[in-house]
Amino acid sequence: MSTQSSTTEERTGIDEIHILWISEGMSCDGDTVSLTAADQPSIEDVVLGLIPGLPKVNLVNKVLSPSLGGEDFLAPYRAAARGDLKPFILVIEGSIPNQRIIDGEGYWTSFGNDPETGQPQPLNWWIDQLAPKAFAVVAAGTCATFGGIHAMAGNPTGCMGLADYLGWEFRSQAGLPVVNVPGCPIQPENFMETLIWVLQHAAGTAPPPPLDHMLRPQWLFGKTVHEGCDRAAYYEQADFGKDYNSPKCLVKTGCWGPVVNCNVPKRGWMAGIGGCPNVGGICIGCTMPGFPDAFMPFMDEPPGATLSTLAVKPYGAVIRRLRGLTNDMVNHEPKWRHNKQKLTSGYNPHYRP
Ligand code: SF4
Ligand code: SF4
Repeated sequence: MSTQSSTTEERTGIDEIHILWISEGMSCDGDTVSLTAADQPSIEDVVLGLIPGLPKVNLVNKVLSPSLGGEDFLAPYRAAARGDLKPFILVIEGSIPNQRIIDGEGYWTSFGNDPETGQPQPLNWWIDQLAPKAFAVVAAGTCATFGGIHAMAGNPTGCMGLADYLGWEFRSQAGLPVVNVPGCPIQPENFMETLIWVLQHAAGTAPPPPLDHMLRPQWLFGKTVHEGCDRAAYYEQADFGKDYNSPKCLVKTGCWGPVVNCNVPKRGWMAGIGGCPNVGGICIGCTMPGFPDAFMPFMDEPPGATLSTLAVKPYGAVIRRLRGLTNDMVNHEPKWRHNKQKLTSGYNPHYRP
């Protein structure tokens, strides 16, 4: 899907920009915590201006903020809501509750207080004020992108993802739709790569980030977990683990990797280490729009897996046997490598090409 828009209002070529990060959606703040683990590049590198070609970045995030808190911390948000601070990128963490179902009676989640009434300012008010004024709007984590755990069946808040709230046709000042970076939590470098792309777009040195039909960065979410899994060869050979201690394929213990879009097994989690199935954790589909309901109960074999593993069994058994024989063969040295008196390597001194 193309994210280019002829309605772009904000010019690129920006040399200084704010990132206004609000983590007051329904969330555990895990995406902010995860972000602190990024090192290719780190958020510190971006804020300190160590990445060539990016605008100067002023990050405002409650965990990473140097402010004293309170109104000092809220000042840039208030200025942006008034239209006095721009350009800025709005990052939302956590799912968006439905205020309409309580019809003005209280609030589900808030961010600061209304200076006039002293009452908590609902998150939804901030999104309504800030999103239309933002250069770009980024949803960090599965809660903000698709609703996540808080939006599962039976929830009382009616919460949803940011694009559900703003509309999938929403366009920011730069003509971009909501940029979705799912993950429970975000994989740190996945988020940083996306942010860098948006910043380069702001600087005028990159086109809009290419997004898929669910507004995820295509280059990060275009492949399945299975396609990048360390254990995929075991699957192909129909060699399935029966418990979590096994180094073999985990599909029989509940791994959804073959049908989930995520690059974590390829990329690892921190500094390339980890990555769910690589280290013994089944994939529960945490990056997916249908998460968690579509993937529950988590520990059971996924519905399609019985059939697909049955189909791969005869092929896998033959392949495993043949590979075992070939592996045995190539695990021996050639017979001419010896310390006897006679050369048996087949050397021919009269050989002419
Ligand atoms: S552990 Fe999961 S992702 Fe890895 S090979 Fe098995 S089914 Fe695929
Ligand atoms: S491998 Fe699966 S469980 Fe792990 S981060 Fe990716 S989608 Fe989530």
